Amino acid sequence: MRKSGMLALRIVTSLFLCAAAGAPIYAQEADVTRLVAAMLGDTPLTDDLRALTDEIGGRITGSATNLRSVDWGLERFRAAGVEAKKEAFTMPALWLEKSSSVIIEGDASFKPNVVAMPFSISTPVRGLTAPLVDGGFGSEQDFQRLGNDAKGAFALIETHELLDLDGLFREYNEAVGIEQRAFAAGVAGVVYMSSRPHNLLYRHNASLGVKNKHPMLVMERDAALRCLRLLRAGKSLTMTATIDVATGPAYESYNVVGEIKGTLKSEEFVVIGAHLDSWEIGQGALDNGCNVALVIDLARQMKRLGLRPLRTIRFALFNGEEQGLNGSWGYCKTHADELDRTVMASSYDIGSGRIIGFFTGGRPELVSATEKALTPVEGLGPFMQIDAPIVGTDNFDFMMEGVGNLVANQESANYGPNYHAGSDTFDKVDLKQLRINAAIAAAVTYGFATMEVNWKRQTRAEVEKLVNSTDLGAQMRSFGLWEMWQDGSRGRKP
Ligand SMILES: [Zn+2]
Repeated sequence: MRKSGMLALRIVTSLFLCAAAGAPIYAQEADVTRLVAAMLGDTPLTDDLRALTDEIGGRITGSATNLRSVDWGLERFRAAGVEAKKEAFTMPALWLEKSSSVIIEGDASFKPNVVAMPFSISTPVRGLTAPLVDGGFGSEQDFQRLGNDAKGAFALIETHELLDLDGLFREYNEAVGIEQRAFAAGVAGVVYMSSRPHNLLYRHNASLGVKNKHPMLVMERDAALRCLRLLRAGKSLTMTATIDVATGPAYESYNVVGEIKGTLKSEEFVVIGAHLDSWEIGQGALDNGCNVALVIDLARQMKRLGLRPLRTIRFALFNGEEQGLNGSWGYCKTHADELDRTVMASSYDIGSGRIIGFFTGGRPELVSATEKALTPVEGLGPFMQIDAPIVGTDNFDFMMEGVGNLVANQESANYGPNYHAGSDTFDKVDLKQLRINAAIAAAVTYGFATMEVNWKRQTRAEVEKLVNSTDLGAQMRSFGLWEMWQDGSRGRKP
């Protein structure tokens, strides 16, 4: 299987080289051609991914495992001869799950598997017992139907199975309303049916983020369906939840940032980033170990080939992404005086599905620039740019600071079903496609680091216009980021 995959890759490589051979070759174009060929070759990319996922494993920020991954990332850059350092930033609060369990009693008795949702609070040590009620899909009518029965109860919320990226964004969007209605109705806590099949569990983000004040759980789908069948047959159930989470005040965490200095424009920057942290139920292979390995490998191959573009390239392994995009926010604060000279910051965070283009953030001038950068790899397309702002990964603070930003748009492939789940493991990564994506990322990064640019950092007024003329505000609300933009703690200062 793997062998024939490599053969297919060689064919892609040679096709590409043939196509490129007919074009006039300038120095920079020849550099991109060599770099792309190197990325498609047999590099240590898969070994890196295996080490990060199997040896280190799930690595949520605040854990000892996460600190190991920081040292690992630093060591990988340095072993490749790439200058790199740890850069400290502040995480707003510590949150780590120690254990969570529930017991269902009443007209039936069983013990479903559960996990705490990020920023769930702990219950008392002996557990919190309350009626379990049928919260339907958490709609207005569902809570009207429950009336007083919702008060002090655990509301069990039914979900559709999550199959793709659309389902993922729907889940984020719907959580805001569901949780508002549940808390307004006076529930003791919210229990979501796992949107993954059978017994698979995952971390569903609470809409309030660190501001959440309730016990919140995800229950394995098969057991949640059993609960709902019982409740809908008129049976009564109570649930005792025992949640033990470690919490604490703000603390220091670290991004790992590699750098290859530019030649003529070394004071200008192009950033390529992927987040190092992951939720810890699985091993964070699709989200986002595969793209961490991609970023490291790009730096490694550039160094190996001795390539130096005009602008300085920063290879960022951001941390603290899963708990609120904190590492990339920290980068923007640490490098505030460079943001005027940062021409583009890109994020890769949708697993290993085929790159089909880039989100260009509502900046038409970036569409043509991206297309130009993609020319050397057009044989790996087709590509289509979507000129819309997108929230949910590390481009966010760059975008709100007015910095040109790209997010790789990828086929969702198996990203949705494994998202934040116990099944996000090394074997889910499409290694052949990951190498092709790495070649595409190489061309785009190198292209932006060499091309003429006709755009500038946006002013506060321009960023505000972007917020007001698109669905950016709604997206920010569903990721719990709206207030920080409103109160001025995030985004370009006036
Ligand atoms: Zn991610």
